[in-house]
This record gives sequence, structure tokens and C-alpha cells, in this order.
Amino acid sequence: MSITGKLIRFDLTKGTYFIEDSAPYHDIYIGGRGVGDWILFKEVEKDVSPLDPENIMVFGAGALTGTIAPSSGRLSLVTKNLMTEGIAFSNAGGHFAPELKYAGYDDLVIKGKSPNPVYILINDEKVEIRDASHLWGKTTWETEDLIKEELEDKKVQILSIGPGGENLAKSACIIINKGRALGFGGCGAIMGAKNLKAIVVRGSHSVEVKDPEGFMNECYRVFKKMEHSIGTNFLRQGGTINKIGPALSIPYRNYQDGHYGQKTAELSQLNFKRKYETKRIACFNCPMYCSHFYAIDKGPYRGLKAEGLQINAVRGFGSNLDVADPAFVIKCNAYCNQLGLHIDEISSTLAWIFDCYEKNIVTKEETDGLSLEWGNQEAAVELIKKIAYRQGIGDILAEGTYRAASKIGKNSLKRAVVIKKTGVNEGNMRGKKAWALGIVTSTRGGGHLTGSPNSEGLRNITYQIGEERYGVPTAGQPKTYEGKAKLVSWFEKFKAAIDSLGLCYFTSYWQNNLLSPDDYAALYSKAIGRDIKAEQLFAIGEKIINIEKAFNTINAGFSRKDDYPPQRFIDEPVKTGPLAGERLPLDKWDQMLDEYYEIHGWDKVTGWQTERILEKLRLKEVEEKLRKEGKLITND
Ligand code: SF4
Repeated sequence: MSITGKLIRFDLTKGTYFIEDSAPYHDIYIGGRGVGDWILFKEVEKDVSPLDPENIMVFGAGALTGTIAPSSGRLSLVTKNLMTEGIAFSNAGGHFAPELKYAGYDDLVIKGKSPNPVYILINDEKVEIRDASHLWGKTTWETEDLIKEELEDKKVQILSIGPGGENLAKSACIIINKGRALGFGGCGAIMGAKNLKAIVVRGSHSVEVKDPEGFMNECYRVFKKMEHSIGTNFLRQGGTINKIGPALSIPYRNYQDGHYGQKTAELSQLNFKRKYETKRIACFNCPMYCSHFYAIDKGPYRGLKAEGLQINAVRGFGSNLDVADPAFVIKCNAYCNQLGLHIDEISSTLAWIFDCYEKNIVTKEETDGLSLEWGNQEAAVELIKKIAYRQGIGDILAEGTYRAASKIGKNSLKRAVVIKKTGVNEGNMRGKKAWALGIVTSTRGGGHLTGSPNSEGLRNITYQIGEERYGVPTAGQPKTYEGKAKLVSWFEKFKAAIDSLGLCYFTSYWQNNLLSPDDYAALYSKAIGRDIKAEQLFAIGEKIINIEKAFNTINAGFSRKDDYPPQRFIDEPVKTGPLAGERLPLDKWDQMLDEYYEIHGWDKVTGWQTERILEKLRLKEVEEKLRKEGKLITND
């Protein structure tokens, strides 16, 4: 219950589809990310490249998606990662996922490659693969408008790729509702390689829960709890950019420093709000409406109206490019959304190439005549376009930071801030140890949305609260290493469960004082009519992390050597601000990593999984595949 019980499998090479029972997957892995992980693990082999037709894309709604549970509009995508060759999972809000459930489906599993551009249209029981030749070349915003016009229906929900995905830029992503991104792992290019321009859904059914009255009561209780939480108040005021203030350290010039000093104030949410915000926006059934709508009425970006943005855009296009101009950040964020480019990879690539220019590693001759001096907004916007269309130097930059640096050579790789071949757009890694560990060990190839806690530095996370919530008294202490491996493993499992339920992570303990594991367990229990405890959700979360880890070991060849931070964060301390002097020295990192593997039951020397832990988790097939690869640490 609360799932529809159906998924659709598409073969774009043949232009066919069929419907399958989704319950066997959801019974074990809840929904969304958990189900997608398992299907990918079972069906995509090591010799399949991410852009091959045999790679699959699993779009999945969560078990609670489309219900009246708060913020239940999340969609997951799982596929083979174009950056790492391991797993890619992304999660986006908006309104697509609930509509998919209302059409009667939990997941879409897409393989193959259409001979010509197509889009998929799902309208309840009517499923079509339609010609999209007229949409090829259009931006995601144009695509949405044209499809709505063509179908004469403004309420259809659409996800699409832009020119970035069509041109197989490795930093391409998928955009939902013009402003929400399924970003990681080059998924836009993977969709482009399938000649799939868009997926459109419309539904008229409802989502049922097993115990409607009990579920209603639980929803009422958690909505009330959210209403009175510090986290809701905080996000309502300005989304995650509300964090930006003089005391917050955000990176400067490709992480040459970890603090932006006085200029940080220019990028505060108050400035965005005062100058450009016209209204607030919420995803499906979300009481927090953390998103904004902006309109720019003067200057070079005059006329731009766009939804967005979160803190990653501000540090990626603002401080890390040394541009303290909110209008520029809004422009870059919107432009990436239009072209279907992932803002984290793009901003990482821009920061790196500007850094190389400063150090004379690349010259004007190699940058198509663009002068990449810090703060040159025009050049940055031009580079974004060049990446999407693979024009000139854009063809190299479209490979992402790591591969572009490998191609350019001349020591430029030393300046590339990357983890597992993925560009990094993160704040405070040197100063917050668990935050850094979560990013580096992330199963999707770097990024805080796997296991990084948000608790470090929060004043209300006292030793007592840290102990009560996570079993880690030091959870609020940014600079200490003690207990941080345990904290990361706690959040990894928690996040995996929430992604599978289809709720927004911002509703949770991850943001200050919001919903606890018990709250999610109570909601899920009423939805499925079975008593589920928080520990059971964590146990499923642990399975999910282990499936992802095994997929990476087999397909990307990851081992302990890949779980280290970028060299810059090991060698160069933060120079200014509250985190001055902080870096990630190797001896401390090794200690934390040992502890992290130990907590997971993984081998400390190789970083591989052990027979013991996979037996405990009853992941027999995972165990067998790893054994076949010779990458399982056996009990004897
Ligand atoms: S908190 Fe923000 S991102 Fe999450 S569902 Fe609500 S509006 Fe969307």
C-alpha cells in the first residue's frame, strides 16, 4: 500500500514497453533510490559503459510520494555514473513524482537507444513513445513550454534534457519544472545518448494508504511539529542560502581560501531577497517553501525571471569565482537549468579553469580568446554556453573538471578539486570533519547528500543532544575528528531511507530540529499498515549503502585509495575566517577512515566489503558478484 504496484519498462531501441509488478522490489527496498539501486545492481554489468544503450535509467517515486505526508514530491534517478563508472543516484523535488504515482506507476526503467529523438508520454493507462525531432536543440524551458502547448495541457509534469545532454556533455543533467535538477553522474548525457528528450506524465488516480485515519493523524502530528521547528522557520526565510552570512565560510577562488571575508555579505539571502525575489515557491505538498522566484529588472541580465537557488549555486558561481553579485549567480543558475547542465560540476570546472588562467597554465590562445580573470562574468557565462554546445574550449570543459584537467595536462590536475573524477562544489570541507568524510566517501562519487551531517557548528547541538540523537556527543563540534565516522554512517543510512520514502531531506533531522527517524517510521507504518521501527528503516538504509558500495567496487574499481580528499584540502589550510588553519592532514584522515570502515564492517586495508557484513545484511547476490570479481574479503 501507498505504492501503485506497477512499474513500466521501456526499450527505446525497439520502441516498446511493458508493465511489471513493482511490489517485489518495494517490499524489500521501500521505493525510489532503494529500488533503483537494486534494479541497477542486478541488471547492469561491468562491461556496460554509461552511454551504452544497455545502461538503464531507473526513475522512481518513493513509497510515500504523492501522499499527504509533508514534502512528499521527491523523485529518484539511479543509473551508471558517467563520471565514475560506478553508481549515480540523484533526487529532485517539484511535482513530477507525485504525478507519476497518480498516473498509476512507481518507477520507470528505461534502456536502449531510440534511432531518432523521442519523448515518453504517460497519461494514466495510455503510454506512448512520441517523436521529439521538433524538440531536439531546444532548452529545457522551451521544451516544457512546447510540450504543454502541443498537448494543450498546462498541468502535465515534465522532465527533460537541454543542449548539454544532447551534446553528451559529461556535466549534463535533467531538469524538472524548469528549476529542479536530477544532477549527478552526467545523467543528462545518459538520457541524451538514448535520444530521449523528455518524459511527460499526467495522472488522474489517487494514492491509497492502508490505514487512512492513522496516516492522517500522523501527518497532522508531523506537520505541527514542523510548524514549530527552528529548521522550518530558517528554510522559510530564505532556503539554504539563509546560511550565508559573515560568519559562514564559503570557498574563494577555486578553494585558494575557504573564506570569502567581507564580500560574503553581498551574497546574503537578504540581498537576493531585497533586490530580486518576487515570490516563494514550494515543491509538492511542502509547508517549507524554501525556493524563491527571482526577476531581474536592470543590468546585463535584465528581463531574466527564474526559480532557484540554493547555497551551492551561491558558493559555486559566487565566492568560488570571486563574483559577489547575486544577479550573476541567478543568471548562471538559470542558464545551467535552461541548457541542462549540473551546476556543481559546471561551477567546479569554471573555478578550476579560472585558477589555471591565473597561474598561466592556460592562456588566452587556449580559451578561444576569453580573458579568464577572476570576476569576468561575461567570460563565465560564455564558457557555460560553450560547454553545453561543446564549442571550442567548451568541448574539453564538457568532459568535467577531472577529465578536462587530464587532457590539458601541464600540472593543471593539481589545481583540480575533484573526488572520484567528479568536480567538487562544497563549502567548509577543511573545517568540518564529518562533513568532509561524508562528501569524500559518498557512494555517488563525492557530494554531501549521502552521509554528510549538517550538525557541525550548530549551537543547539550540545554534547547531550548529539548523544541522544546520533549516539555521538561531538556531533556539533566541527573541528574534532572523534565520533565523526559514526556520525557519517548514521546519516548515510538515514538519508538512504528518506530517499526511498520519497520525502525531502530538508524535512528531517538533517535540518535543525525537524523530523526524527521515529517520525518517518510512524508515517511509513500507517501507510503500509505494518508496524515499522526506526531501526528497520536504518537496516534497509544500510543495505542500500552496501549495494551502492558493491556496485562501485565492481564497476568503478573503487577501493580505499579513492576515499581521500582532494590534495588541496590535505596540503593547504584555510587562510582566513573562523576556520583559519584548518586542513585535512593525512594521519588524522587515515584514523577517521579506519574507524569508518570498521563501523561499516568493511576491510580497513582495501576498503572492500566483507563476507561477514554481507551475510549479516542477507545480500547474497551482492556477496556472490563480489566474490566472482575477487573483491570480497572472506571470513577465513
Ligand atoms: S523543503 Fe524546499 S526542496 Fe524540500 S520539498 Fe520543500 S520546497 Fe522542495
